[in-house]
Amino acid sequence: MSNASQPKISLLQLVRAAWTPYKRMLPFLQPYWKQFAWAMLCGVSYAGVNGCIPLAAKYVGEHVFKSGATQAELLRAADANQGSHLTSTIILVCALIPITMITRSILSYLNSYYMMWVSLRALSDMRQQLFNHLVSQSLDFFNRSKAGQLISRVMNDTNNAQSALVMIASDVIKAPLSVIVGIAVLVRIDWKFSLTTLVLLPICMIPVLVFGKKIRKAGKAADNEAGIMSVILQESFAGIRMIKGFGREEYQIKLFRKSSEAQFHNSLKIRRSGDIVQPLIESVSALGVSLALLYVYTGQMSAVKFLALLAGLFLLYEPVKRISRIPLQLQRCITSATNIFNLLDIAPSIQDQPSARELIHVQGHIEFQGVSFSYVPDKKAVSNISFSIQSGCRYALVGASGAGKSTILSLLLRFYDPQEGRILFDGKDVLSLTQKSLRNHISLVSQDTFLFHDTIYENIRYGRLDASQSEVEEAAHLAFAHHFILEQPQGYNTIIGDKGCQLSGGQQQRLSIARAILKNAPILLLDEATSALDSESEHMIQSALERLAQNRTTIAIAHRLSTILKSDQIIVMEGGRIVEEGPHLQLLDQSMIYRKLYELQFLSHVPQEALGIS
Ligand code: ADP
Repeated sequence: MSNASQPKISLLQLVRAAWTPYKRMLPFLQPYWKQFAWAMLCGVSYAGVNGCIPLAAKYVGEHVFKSGATQAELLRAADANQGSHLTSTIILVCALIPITMITRSILSYLNSYYMMWVSLRALSDMRQQLFNHLVSQSLDFFNRSKAGQLISRVMNDTNNAQSALVMIASDVIKAPLSVIVGIAVLVRIDWKFSLTTLVLLPICMIPVLVFGKKIRKAGKAADNEAGIMSVILQESFAGIRMIKGFGREEYQIKLFRKSSEAQFHNSLKIRRSGDIVQPLIESVSALGVSLALLYVYTGQMSAVKFLALLAGLFLLYEPVKRISRIPLQLQRCITSATNIFNLLDIAPSIQDQPSARELIHVQGHIEFQGVSFSYVPDKKAVSNISFSIQSGCRYALVGASGAGKSTILSLLLRFYDPQEGRILFDGKDVLSLTQKSLRNHISLVSQDTFLFHDTIYENIRYGRLDASQSEVEEAAHLAFAHHFILEQPQGYNTIIGDKGCQLSGGQQQRLSIARAILKNAPILLLDEATSALDSESEHMIQSALERLAQNRTTIAIAHRLSTILKSDQIIVMEGGRIVEEGPHLQLLDQSMIYRKLYELQFLSHVPQEALGIS
């Protein structure tokens, strides 16, 4: 939102704008309504007790000072007349002040405690719902979003919304009620005095409104900048290899410094405007006190009454200060809650149809019928793709970069749905199947292996969470990973660093193959690594993949010669279209395009004698 579009925003508009996200927050509070009700009850009681303090002070004062009598006179009277009875009454009366204050403190604590409890629970639920929602988003959403920004939404926005929610929830009843009760009590004690002094109260709202606006603006900028900083952090740590490789540490440091500097100014603006409100209110209050003194001088008021009224005025200060914070809290809450609800409102672009069925037994027959798909309008990534793969067959996709090979795999996994044509699994349209059951039957071994910062054991077990230890080890054996795993300091329990960076590239790939073996899905999608490994690693990966591919329908984006040689069929792609299809030798014989591609991509790295073909 541009700041020019909202030159003036009244408190009423703010409250109205706040209501929408607040209304949506209510369901998060609903399960905890009992604790919420307790908090409210304590807040209301607090306001009541708070208002009673000047009355108690007056009552106590009147008893202790007995209309101007000295203490000595009182004691004499006590001895002479009522004796110990009066003394104990005086002690009881004196105890009224600490009793009231202690009750007030307990109520205030309980109010804050319950409010905090409710809001922390609500925050935790909201954060969980947001995370669930984000994880269920389709891939196009993540293509558009920055990971750092999403992290900031889940961490910062939920936090902001929560803390604002706590403050507003605890202040919105407690503070105005305390002011109303406080004023009512003052008026009851002496309405003329109260009118004289409280005439300045509305003036206190002027700095609140003026600086509240500045705070809102700076608060919004601070929230935006928090997102930017989060993106810089996430990208700096995730891309540290590239950053170091290009020697761009200084550049990243500069980026961070710029964001940090902007955050410094935003925070300073918030504090500057926030902190000036209090002294201004205090100055106006001081004026009120001098007016009060003038009134006392002219009105011949007793000292006890004056002290009680002064205590009442003093007790108004805190709730007024709290009310002055509400607009800022409201703004923070609106911004953060709006950010959260905007994310929650984005429906995943790929959704199961209401009538979607589970895919249970899969033979592994795959068919593309005239499939077209574009990531962006008017630019087809794949166009009119048709092919059919019999179960258990091996297909290889070859073609220059950008030809559409990865898109085919993504469509099969339903990361995206085609705009034209159909994809069939054993004759069933993938759109009629649940995404989860479909993906349960597919293993994806990708060139960018992703390993979690966890033990080797857990990384393999990710393929099938109910696998036993022996099954995990068996999968590692089959993937030629068992021996190098045992050589690690804690064997299977060795924790591997982010993206598995304590292992070599070849070892990481073998772990991801073990994961796929454990999953044991009937369909295997293989996106082969383009980077060359040392020949021993390469050989082991080949053998591991060979085992993995056995008895499975396999589609491989081929970068290795052995893959195309072992494929039953090769699909040659160019500019998003299939230009040739057939077995290797046939294509080599008949297709100019394939021959060129073969010489360029596969042949150039391999010595002729290793090919075993002429
Ligand atoms: P290949 O795997 O053969 O290298 P891709 O399937 O990745 O080719 O890409 C096919 C086309 O789609 C290319 O023109 C590429 O630029 C485009 N493309 C791929 N991914 C995206 C994306 N996430 N957003 C927009 N365009 C994309």
